[in-house]
Amino acid sequence: MKDVIIVGSGPAGLTAAIYAKRAGLDMLVIEKNYASGGQVLTTYEVDNYPALPGINGFDLGMQMREHADKLGAEFLEAEVISVKSEGAVKQVVTDNGTYEAASVILAMGASHARLGAPGEEEMTGMGVSYCATCDGAFFKNKDVAVIGGGDVAVEDAIFLARTSRKVWLVHRRDELRAAKSLQQKLFELENVEVVWDSVVEQIEGSDQVEGIRVQNVKDGTKQEIAVQGIFVAVGILPNSGSICEEALKDEKGYFEAGEDCATSVPGIFAAGDIRTKALRQIVTAVADGANAVTGVQNYLLTR
Ligand code: NAP
Repeated sequence: MKDVIIVGSGPAGLTAAIYAKRAGLDMLVIEKNYASGGQVLTTYEVDNYPALPGINGFDLGMQMREHADKLGAEFLEAEVISVKSEGAVKQVVTDNGTYEAASVILAMGASHARLGAPGEEEMTGMGVSYCATCDGAFFKNKDVAVIGGGDVAVEDAIFLARTSRKVWLVHRRDELRAAKSLQQKLFELENVEVVWDSVVEQIEGSDQVEGIRVQNVKDGTKQEIAVQGIFVAVGILPNSGSICEEALKDEKGYFEAGEDCATSVPGIFAAGDIRTKALRQIVTAVADGANAVTGVQNYLLTR
């Protein structure tokens, strides 16, 4: 039986692995597959991680992984199906066997939300994408649309503007949610046009995306925009699923936990994007990884 099993190997899980090894805990990280390190790996540029301005997200994620490897962290590739608390023993059931630990840190992160527009599902992989850094190269010298107004949407638009001919950023309000520094970079780009106050009514095309029909929510006017690629960046949803039904979650599915990462189940912790918090960033995920291990150590001492 391990002292702690960490589920997930994004920044929160890898930081927890680093802290657990340094604390001398008998630990195991269970990850879906190697380098399933979460959203950071598909972020082109991270400009707000202290001391590493402008670092490529994949490089940052892999450096965290190397750090954990160097300390001798143990990793297992498996899909976690459920985490159950049998009092002092936590059972982690995977598609590759059941593992036991005195405590568990849930760090499965979050995934891209769907827009819910007609045509989106059918056209996914045929021009509709959720990852600009993964698929942007397919749209070199073509016209693309990014949907959303948060950090990811604006980062995607900036990234795509480097290679695509024209980038339309479609946002449902008249103000972006993204960080002001990103907005500043965006507004300097000549091949980006923001379509304000507009929602996507229809994604058009038969076997490839050909365009979008958008409607202005203020005056009701409609506009057809011809694009070959659509990048959906309308937020994230927690990868909590039904993995740990015992722990309390909020209405969106985030595990209810404070800065100590303790969930409602003693010995089960939630770190990173998967827990209720005000700010979901790499730097806060990393902080959670450290705090969760402190929580585990206290739990092991007092249980
Ligand atoms: P987000 O901040 O939640 O923004 C989602 C955007 O999509 C918002 O502008 C929202 O509009 C829009 N939206 C939501 N549902 C929509 C719908 N059905 N139709 C049209 N538009 C819709 O999500 P995110 O940009 O994916 O970022 C996720 C988290 O990661 C955030 O906490 C973000 O700060 C963080 N992040 C940080 C960094 C960084 O620090 N470098 C980079 C990337 C992401 P409204 O504005 O009207 O709500």
